[in-house]
Amino acid sequence: MDCLFCKIVNGSIPATIVKQTEKITAFNDISPQAPTHLLIIPNIHFENMGKLSEADEKLSGEMLREASAIAKDLGLDSWRININTGASAGQSVFHAHIHLLGGRTFAWPPG
Ligand code: AMP
Ligand code: ZN
Repeated sequence: MDCLFCKIVNGSIPATIVKQTEKITAFNDISPQAPTHLLIIPNIHFENMGKLSEADEKLSGEMLREASAIAKDLGLDSWRININTGASAGQSVFHAHIHLLGGRTFAWPPG
């Protein structure tokens, strides 16, 4: 399958990988929107987080746990998770991912 994030998982496209386990890969977003901006992705392909969480509740929970663990490792006391599901919500890469952002203040509600 021609998927950018599957290629990052298998190493055929380079990325700055922050953490990789049997289940997930976390790497720096190429176009950071905050001083810390990582993407946490499952190593197996799902189109979006909605489909992943319906198919594998354990894996979706593990992704949130990893986000929290990485934020703690980076010393962030405030951080934001963003999940864009579908093109009109801003999803541009159709391999499930969680954005982990930190290091600045964030407006609420989001735009
Ligand atoms: P989304 O718009 O929620 O689908 O997020 C996709 C994210 O992937 C965007 O924030 C992009 O900046 C990021 N991105 C695209 N290509 C790469 C890449 N080769 N390495 C790291 N991040 C990427
Ligand atoms: Zn993929």
